[in-house]
Amino acid sequence: MIERPNSKAVDRKGRLALPATRLPIRDPEVRIRDFGEACEPWDLEAARAEAERCIQCPAAPCVRACPLGNDIPYALWLLEHRDIEAAASVFRSTNTMPEVCGRVCPQSELCEGACVYARQGRPPVAIGRLEAFVADRAPEPFPELTAPTGRRAAVVGAGPAGLTVAEKLAVRGHAVTVYDAWPAPGGILRYGIPTFKMSHRLVDERAARLETLGVRFVPSTRVGRDVTVEQLFDDGCEAVFLGIGAGVQRDAQIEGVDLPGVYQATPFLVGANVERVLRPDALRPGVSVGRRAAVVGGGDTAMDCVRTALRLGAEEVTCWYRRTEREMPGNERDRDLARQEGARFEWLVQPTRLLPGPDGRVTAMECVRMRLGEPDSSGRRRPVKVAGTAFRVEVDTVILALGYLPDGDTVHGIPGLEVDDRALIETDPRSGATSREGLYAGGDAVLGPALVVTAVQHGMRAAEAMHRQLTAGAVTADCSS
Ligand code: SF4
Repeated sequence: MIERPNSKAVDRKGRLALPATRLPIRDPEVRIRDFGEACEPWDLEAARAEAERCIQCPAAPCVRACPLGNDIPYALWLLEHRDIEAAASVFRSTNTMPEVCGRVCPQSELCEGACVYARQGRPPVAIGRLEAFVADRAPEPFPELTAPTGRRAAVVGAGPAGLTVAEKLAVRGHAVTVYDAWPAPGGILRYGIPTFKMSHRLVDERAARLETLGVRFVPSTRVGRDVTVEQLFDDGCEAVFLGIGAGVQRDAQIEGVDLPGVYQATPFLVGANVERVLRPDALRPGVSVGRRAAVVGGGDTAMDCVRTALRLGAEEVTCWYRRTEREMPGNERDRDLARQEGARFEWLVQPTRLLPGPDGRVTAMECVRMRLGEPDSSGRRRPVKVAGTAFRVEVDTVILALGYLPDGDTVHGIPGLEVDDRALIETDPRSGATSREGLYAGGDAVLGPALVVTAVQHGMRAAEAMHRQLTAGAVTADCSS
């Protein structure tokens, strides 16, 4: 394997003068006609040229900004020297899903935001795309399996945290069963992230790999309804991981949300992006948007809905947000892509009522203008209604993307599990262990709606602790820190 460079021997000045490589992305007019990935694959020479811009910082800020601590400079050095397999293996040593994180991480807030180029106001090294490039190009070697240990573990939730736990435990010889409420594995990766951001083929491949490792999937099974944590322990599982996410949709609390033509974000995204056969029965019929679609809310899910509505053929797609762009959460890159694709934005507006037409379908949205007042508990300035500014817009479809909450009903139903006042599970930050012996948790169920990469991080951490418990005895939890 090519050795790590001597940082003093790297020509930093020369590298800093190199131009950024153009990111290959499909023309907006073309890409909104299908649900294929917006980004195109790089060719090796373009990827190498981009990797060569990395100046090999000795205390690389990008590594510190990556929740997984990926050894980015070394991986890019290997790519620059055409050793794609070795570069992929560096990413894979700290990340179970580099092909996913490379595509969906909000890099401008993480690794790329910390890159020295970004701090100079220049395009950062395209770390995410390069991570996805090497992971796509280098087939993932089949790991050396440990002999079966005879110990059993269960994972509840087949999203990024749960899949990570399952993989790490299966490789170490433990028998793992993964339960999930959806009909197919993937959680947010399949039933949240649209295919134009990340092909669901990647989820299929990851699930197939886990099955080859011996992981058993039990779909359409909700904890608390179809199976209880007690049953899992009674059936002989010695360690159980809860990766149930935070997928309860926040209510709009306005009149008209039950009208035909009004969708919650998740059913809308699933109906448009997930193969019919992999949807739950209630979401089999699919979705239609008409000519004018209104997406209410901000953040990544709202942008996913906006871009999905455009791909479904809506001629006019507007995102209505009650604050300004400055306060809008989510990835700026996705907002830019949505703008390129024709999305419009209306800032400082709040819908107050959805109105039906003669056929009973939604046909209009009543709104009021807002202004920003004093900061609220989140630190963002609170939107306040401006009197006398009510107005009405005609719509064919309204999609409500108002954010997600943890699943309080499920976690409150698990005896001995401590949760906070927002129904987030309390865990020991070193191990993911909960207040109940043998029960671990991670991802959005612990953090609230967060990132795929933090779910992977939690999964890796919990898998280590669960392995220790399965091989050496109990792990003591300290959930107070
Ligand atoms: Fe950047 Fe995410 Fe990859 Fe870390 S996992 S290097 S934050 S893209």
